[in-house]
Amino acid sequence: MTNHKSIKIGQNFYCYIWAGKGNNCNASLIHHALRGEQSDILIDPGHISNEWGENCFDSLMQTMAGDGFKVENVGMVICTHCHPDHFEAAEPVVKRSNAQVALSREEYEFYNNEGNRFYTAFGSKAPQIEPSFYLEEGDLKLDETNKLDIKVLFTPGHTPGSISLYLEELKLLISGDVVFAGSVGRTDFPGGDASLLRESIDRLSQLDVEYLIPGHSTQAGSIISNKNQVSHNFNLVKTII
Ligand SMILES: [Zn+2]
Repeated sequence: MTNHKSIKIGQNFYCYIWAGKGNNCNASLIHHALRGEQSDILIDPGHISNEWGENCFDSLMQTMAGDGFKVENVGMVICTHCHPDHFEAAEPVVKRSNAQVALSREEYEFYNNEGNRFYTAFGSKAPQIEPSFYLEEGDLKLDETNKLDIKVLFTPGHTPGSISLYLEELKLLISGDVVFAGSVGRTDFPGGDASLLRESIDRLSQLDVEYLIPGHSTQAGSIISNKNQVSHNFNLVKTII
């Protein structure tokens, strides 16, 4: 019995929706995204354990195992942002797999300055890892054989360096803590900026999206599928920011 629910979209995309009592993020995995044996990309591995004492990372590994995936086969971890509920488990993933870690430069600098304080305030320990490279706006260049089109969008506001990912082939948007079903990311944490968040949401709302994968589930739901529902959601959240 795990606290994640696995949802497969298309051939190689898996979303791991958090369904526990306490806080944790939704994780995603793109299978066969990289060359070699460690071909999987894991996005936002989440908490190691949360305020309810739930073993979030164990749950993620077990749920991944149900789909035939192992953390040891992850070649890259991408973090939408550095909050503990998205980034904390990046450390055990890297320990087991030696995977590359990618996030935006702005986010890493913010994390370096504010990270420890923020993690301590939430009763956890900041991961001791450094990015292998920085994510930049535009196409994510993996290697020349990569057929996946992963676009990185710089979408600050919830944090100074938050990114979103757009998978063009699936018309799938991983929005981190920028936008949720019926809601938007908080801007009252250090580094939050409501007007930047508004601009970021505006940008994302112009994409052609069939699947919106938000960083957390809300009472209104988790994944939003269908273009009409997605644009309805953007229209709705624009009225509350
Ligand atoms: Zn966050």
